[in-house]
Amino acid sequence: MKYYYDLHLHSCLSPCGDMDMTPNNLVNMAKLLGLDVIALTDHNTSLNCEAAIKVGEEVGVLVIPGMELTTSEDIHAVCLFPTLEKALAFSQYVDENRIHIRNKAAIRQ
Ligand SMILES: [Zn+2]
Repeated sequence: MKYYYDLHLHSCLSPCGDMDMTPNNLVNMAKLLGLDVIALTDHNTSLNCEAAIKVGEEVGVLVIPGMELTTSEDIHAVCLFPTLEKALAFSQYVDENRIHIRNKAAIRQ
């Protein structure tokens, strides 16, 4: 059996995301595109994963909780977690320990 997937997606919580990239819209767009599995990997946060997982359960798309972690060397590492709880715990750790830099909305990646 073939599975179609995308394990690197951002929502509106990422600086590169549009405001219409809600968890609901992302998961339903994945469904329309025929994806079976997606990972939500917002920059330095997993806070939209719970909502995406709930929508995924409703429409039949497996949502893996994730994050795109930016290191102090500006390396972007996609992190995937086995459970929502582990993702949220890591997200909290990152939020408490990272350098908070004000977003410049006019600059998009
Ligand atoms: Zn990314």
